[in-house]
Amino acid sequence: MCIPRRQYVCTECGYNMPGYCPDFCPFCGAEKRIFITWKECSTLFDVACLEVTGNISRLKAEPPLGPELSSYCIDTGESTIWIDCPPAFDSTLPSANHIVFTHNHLLGAVNLYRRHFHSRVRIHALDSANSLCRGFAFDGTFHDSFVEDGLEAFHINGHTPGFTIYIYEHTLFVSDLVHFDQGRLHLNLFGPQDETANAAKRTHRILESRRIDQVCGHENVVPFEYWMKKFEDMLTAKTRV
Ligand SMILES: [Zn+2]
Ligand SMILES: [Zn+2]
Repeated sequence: MCIPRRQYVCTECGYNMPGYCPDFCPFCGAEKRIFITWKECSTLFDVACLEVTGNISRLKAEPPLGPELSSYCIDTGESTIWIDCPPAFDSTLPSANHIVFTHNHLLGAVNLYRRHFHSRVRIHALDSANSLCRGFAFDGTFHDSFVEDGLEAFHINGHTPGFTIYIYEHTLFVSDLVHFDQGRLHLNLFGPQDETANAAKRTHRILESRRIDQVCGHENVVPFEYWMKKFEDMLTAKTRV
């Protein structure tokens, strides 16, 4: 696979546009005057690899590129798996054998990493057809929950039709299903609210019988006990409405 001659990055949100340059960012609507090429992006932004546990790291653009959209790297001992992909290309990151997505908002510069690392890239089939995937290639799509190399994927729908959360050992990856604001958790406002609320309830049922130590979200990593208290407060408030 070759790199498109032109690939632009929106500096407002970090969305990559492989092979085309629209007047407005397809993700956040910003004007094209703030777009930069992927090479400029690679020069201006590094990707920090911050340890979460002994075998899990958080990948985060530095300086921040758009909103805090973290992706994560897991070293299973057998392979290296990324969950979601950073918006800037940084060749110094640990090689990814597999890149899997929570949903189609965090594709980042996956086509560049796929080529560089020969990664196998997969996303839920329902998200793969979305126009936000224009210019990106996937090596496979999944249609349901699965377990692979110790990574458990749970399709929960909601914020996007293919939205998928992951558990590896005692770590939960929820991406932007919820976000913190003033010490409280809130459901993601973008997408069908009823379905997102159902996805949160599905998540709660999945977690009932599990020991989880920390939660990796798009903004930060939070101790599970703290996160679960806030999560249940949010679900209770929703039920009351
Ligand atoms: Zn944008
Ligand atoms: Zn999203």
